[in-house]
Amino acid sequence: MGREGRSALDAGADFLHLDVMDGHFVPNLTMGPDMCRSLRHELPEAVLDVHLMVDDPARFAKPFASAGADLLTFHIEAVDDPVALSETVRGLGMAAGIAINPPTDVSRIMPVLDHVDLVLIMSVNPGYSGQVFIPEVLGKARTVSAALEPEQRLAIDGGVNVETATACLAAGCDVLMAASAIYGSDDYAGSIAALRGGAGIVAGSS
Ligand code: ZN
Repeated sequence: MGREGRSALDAGADFLHLDVMDGHFVPNLTMGPDMCRSLRHELPEAVLDVHLMVDDPARFAKPFASAGADLLTFHIEAVDDPVALSETVRGLGMAAGIAINPPTDVSRIMPVLDHVDLVLIMSVNPGYSGQVFIPEVLGKARTVSAALEPEQRLAIDGGVNVETATACLAAGCDVLMAASAIYGSDDYAGSIAALRGGAGIVAGSS
């Protein structure tokens, strides 16, 4: 993980995006705070962006803060009080992000926008890498983009590749999370440059 993370950063990725899955909120099971801590140790200068796909994200705010996460994103579908959790996350010294799954109506996150640093639009149903992009989520991206302040970021995650990146950027996204499109290629730098396409931030997703 450390070597791959280093390779993605050296190839031009702006940060590393860690997909944390608990086997409940999504069927798959991935990594926890220990992996984040190890990456922080290996890559002290990296921006570590943790995407919590877990049932009870509040439980993990402190463990990931002490593991060196810079940004903690949790799902609107997994919390009763997103504003309170966002304040907790910021109080722990991290930036706060709110994520929304493809079937969830965009109206769910609009009241939260003033309280987060980043909105993450899921463009696949979360759980596995390598899925096909759902183009209908771009309408959601446009709605959120129009409501954000310049210092807030709009990210998209799932099925982002050179073919879908242009539409994501056109819909107002300025952060592209990519896994297969980078790690599945022989040329990380070329893939990241192609994704970036003149705008946006690219994260090597794990
Ligand atoms: Zn993610």
